[in-house]
Amino acid sequence: MTYNTELLDRAKRHPEKQKNPDRPMGRKPSWIRAKAPTGKVYKETKEMIQGLNLTTVCEEAGCPNIGECWEKKHATFMVMGEICTRACSFCNVATGKPDALDKYEPLRVGVAVEKMDLEHVVITSVDRDDLDDGGARHWVKTIEAIRFKAPKTTVEILPGDFKGDMDAIDMVADAKPDVFNHNLETIPRLYPTIRPGARYFRSLRLLERVKDRHPETFTKSGLMVGLGETKEEVGQVMDDMRAAKVDFITIGQYLQPSPKHAPVDRFWTPQEFEGLERMARAKGFLMVSATPLTRSSYHAGDDFSKLKAARDAKLASKTS
Ligand code: SF4
Repeated sequence: MTYNTELLDRAKRHPEKQKNPDRPMGRKPSWIRAKAPTGKVYKETKEMIQGLNLTTVCEEAGCPNIGECWEKKHATFMVMGEICTRACSFCNVATGKPDALDKYEPLRVGVAVEKMDLEHVVITSVDRDDLDDGGARHWVKTIEAIRFKAPKTTVEILPGDFKGDMDAIDMVADAKPDVFNHNLETIPRLYPTIRPGARYFRSLRLLERVKDRHPETFTKSGLMVGLGETKEEVGQVMDDMRAAKVDFITIGQYLQPSPKHAPVDRFWTPQEFEGLERMARAKGFLMVSATPLTRSSYHAGDDFSKLKAARDAKLASKTS
């Protein structure tokens, strides 16, 4: 008998999921195609990240876009360690007791951004419910280090919900990232099984708070489909995001990382994604990215330029 060692490795990262029954991982449809990670720039990006002892969500989450993104030097750094205090049933990041924070990590991220000469950088983190501020001060130091080392680079952050701690959220928002991205991930009905440590309205309040406090900061949020939601429920989440003044929505297909993770309910077709994109645009988002392989950070640099252009056009139409 042969074993898929990558899947076994993924299963080991999730001790809390070992009691789950195995859920068969069916074949992916033809439209879920990812470029194999082989190019020269991909290898240089990998060496740079390893050399600076940094972690990326691209690797930790087993993202299917890694070949394409890293070939364009676009990686999403993951700060505050590789171990998350939560155990979402869709996520491939390892769960457990995290290590102490590395106080030199913010500077290393800044150095990496400078060396890679990035126009736009995306940073995410594991959830750190073990820290009194949820990691807010570390976030601020990371943003400040990037501003110091690479002042022209625009900064997009993708933090967790800080358990709804408004002081922590304000502290991070006040560091003024260009984009504050926080994913709702799924519809509220599925939170107890898919995102048990999170609360739907807590995440919505976070997004609204950031926008109210810093209207110039772009807010962004993402959803996965394929977990059992209906189109109407997705439409309701879009309405909730717009009520919280979210600028940019991303929607992608959920892919099951291992047999112990939540199963794929179904694969939405490319035509259905086009329908979701039309629906989101009609609801007034400044920017929409909805394709099977869309991820929060996919094409984030190009999308940031489009986001700015869309806001400028909207402001111009109001003043003319
Ligand atoms: S989509 Fe995001 S997480 Fe995936 S490889 Fe690209 S930058 Fe990394």
